[in-house]
Amino acid sequence: MAQDRTFFVITIDGPAGAGKTTIARNLAQRLDFCMLDSGALYRTLALALLRAGVKPENQSVPAELLESIEISVEPDIGGMRLMLQSEDVSLRIRSEEVGNAASKFSAKPEVRKALLDIQRAVARKCDIVAEGRDMGAVVFPFAQAKFFITADPEERAKRRYSELMRKGEKPFYEQVLSDMAARDQRDETRALAPMIPADDATIIDTTTLTPQDVTERILERIEVIAGRAFKG
Ligand code: C5P
Repeated sequence: MAQDRTFFVITIDGPAGAGKTTIARNLAQRLDFCMLDSGALYRTLALALLRAGVKPENQSVPAELLESIEISVEPDIGGMRLMLQSEDVSLRIRSEEVGNAASKFSAKPEVRKALLDIQRAVARKCDIVAEGRDMGAVVFPFAQAKFFITADPEERAKRRYSELMRKGEKPFYEQVLSDMAARDQRDETRALAPMIPADDATIIDTTTLTPQDVTERILERIEVIAGRAFKG
């Protein structure tokens, strides 16, 4: 893996609603880096599996099915577009139904393995900000700068609730909070690649911080790590 170290890799891990996607997008725009939203990949694979009639509760996912699913990532302004076969599913994958299925499918080793290469391939093409649960610890252990961002569960549920409202959904706050707690629990306790900060990650609690505060704090730290100023 050492030969993959050509590009600068920044990893942002943490639980749902901590602000990872917003912060990763801000950073990618400021630094002119590509962005890898790994949750979107898990969501896309989950959508494909649901469409194929696979239940997230099933013990395992057939290898032939996983091999037949074609997912590709296309850079988009300040983010990425997710293609399933030739269909753009970037919006379709944002529902709570797909998110909950992604959380369950992602505990299966064969599902995590199926997405490993596609994630690493992005870092062979450009400097990246990669966000998810296991970016620093598993997918990019060689990353130059690693962050783990978190916030109180109630604050994270409030952020998720507002995001769903903005999208025209009509969520119940209590439901959002309990779904989030269930997802945290699954992500933290799964046997493979559980959500834990990498040993060398900087941990930031964003409960009382704005996305701009967090972005600035991370940029300062990255410049210290890199020993130089970046564009922006
Ligand atoms: O971050 P997002 O909510 O889009 O991720 C959807 C689900 O995919 C998460 O609940 C998590 O279980 C899973 N995931 C993961 N590893 C990642 C990114 C997401 O297991 N690197």
